[in-house]
Amino acid sequence: MRIAIFGTKAYDRRFLTKANVAHGHDLVFFEPRLDEATAVLADGFPAVCVFVNDLLNADVLERLAAGGTRLVALRCAGTNNVDLSAALRLGITVVRVPAYSPHAVAEFTVALMLALDRNIARAWTRVRENNFALDGLIGRNLHERTVGVIGTGRIGALVARSLRLGFGCEVLASDVARDPDLEAAGVCYVDPATLLGNVDIVTLHCPLTPETHHIVDAAAIQSARPGMMIVNTSRGGLIDTAAMIDGLKSRKLGGVALDVYEQEADLFFEDLSSEIVQDDLFQRLLTFPNVLVTGHQAFLTEEALTAIAETTLASISDAEAGRTLHNRVTPEQVRPHD
Ligand code: NAD
Repeated sequence: MRIAIFGTKAYDRRFLTKANVAHGHDLVFFEPRLDEATAVLADGFPAVCVFVNDLLNADVLERLAAGGTRLVALRCAGTNNVDLSAALRLGITVVRVPAYSPHAVAEFTVALMLALDRNIARAWTRVRENNFALDGLIGRNLHERTVGVIGTGRIGALVARSLRLGFGCEVLASDVARDPDLEAAGVCYVDPATLLGNVDIVTLHCPLTPETHHIVDAAAIQSARPGMMIVNTSRGGLIDTAAMIDGLKSRKLGGVALDVYEQEADLFFEDLSSEIVQDDLFQRLLTFPNVLVTGHQAFLTEEALTAIAETTLASISDAEAGRTLHNRVTPEQVRPHD
């Protein structure tokens, strides 16, 4: 099948081209992200392949449908950037990669938590300038601290397990469905408000839906334990960024580590080192000594990129052959939590 692949970087091209040896599709790589302005590039392509920050609202989907696109393959798990109802109405099938490597994201989450808590990024900056002073670098043990995990699906469960069984943390969890294996490991499920009021660190692993949008807002931060740290490797929209900045300024929050950011579509995945970044909230975030930000790289391992490429192309081959689409996403599948 002819596939228009949007928002591609060198690593996408490398892994997709390698996986395509087994499928023989006609891959056409485009660097720009898919949005209203670039949708025209997909004219005549029956399949379009996109990533987390491509925009597939009703207008874009209508443009794709008019150009003959019948299949959208997401190279990611989250579907918050796709108007699934519009896709259904327009006869466009949407497939995703539900689980490419939860370990990649879970391990990165714990890495961010440790790096923030133990000031590893600040220490490295100092050492590079031959400043070996330790003042200001005092951290805390993870052992016996209370960590809250919101969303205990594939990634959250791995994080909870690692914190509970590996580091000996007290782990509170919140999810619309409990995981009995985690409960057996000593993880205690509570409602989100109770969780946010009783943890030293909260880590977010639920999807972004209308229900979870700004789940960490001003009220949640106000009710938090003094010095609570936030780690977010899920989706930026889970946190009210302005409220988080207020929490950092007042020292109510003890630190923040983010791999995702609410307005990341304008920033992440690009080299903007010679540009003037216009996002004042983001620039303010970078001024705090107790904030650590990475540019949506938690998924970026050899294993995950291989799995993403193989699953995406296998779904497209299944669609072409009329086989059952195991990774199809419909509005109903996502709506229960909306
Ligand atoms: P998953 O579907 O396996 O788990 C999500 C969990 O969240 C489920 O257990 C679900 O019941 C729970 N949930 C849904 N609504 C909730 C609510 N209102 N409150 C609490 N819990 C709720 O997904 P996953 O594979 O573990 O991925 C989690 C998130 O991580 C994804 O939604 C995606 O946004 C993000 N992600 C980020 C990266 C990255 O590179 N930073 C990579 C992959 C996934």
